[in-house]
Amino acid sequence: MALTTPPKSRSRQAKVSLPDTHGWSQEARRAQLREALIRQRALLLADWKLGFLPLTDRTPFADPADQASNDFEQNLFFQVRTRLVTKLKRIEHALLLLRTKHYGTCRRCHKAIPDERLAVQPDARFCVPCLAWMENRAGRN
Ligand SMILES: [Zn+2]
Repeated sequence: MALTTPPKSRSRQAKVSLPDTHGWSQEARRAQLREALIRQRALLLADWKLGFLPLTDRTPFADPADQASNDFEQNLFFQVRTRLVTKLKRIEHALLLLRTKHYGTCRRCHKAIPDERLAVQPDARFCVPCLAWMENRAGRN
């Protein structure tokens, strides 16, 4: 299908699917990404505060099944918490990088990460091919 589509209409298609990124100056683009990162950070911090709501009772359960279920919940809670911290760190790092010329550069191949990817994930540290390569490697271990 893509082979039969003339390049002209393809570029018009891209304009329709990416109205926010097309024609933006580099500076406006960065301001937009910074806003997106700050918004994400605010949402994560709100989640973080919710995490401080009373936890389930920590006293041991008489029934081992109840205890196991409680332990499972606790583990899940810490996993979510760890992921949240990791994500927050990445956002903070991206916000710092935005002030430099290094923002939007893949940490593995050092090529520019496409705008389309940064629009979806402003804290992206790798381009899609490098990410796929690393996931493939991790999967084999
Ligand atoms: Zn890369």
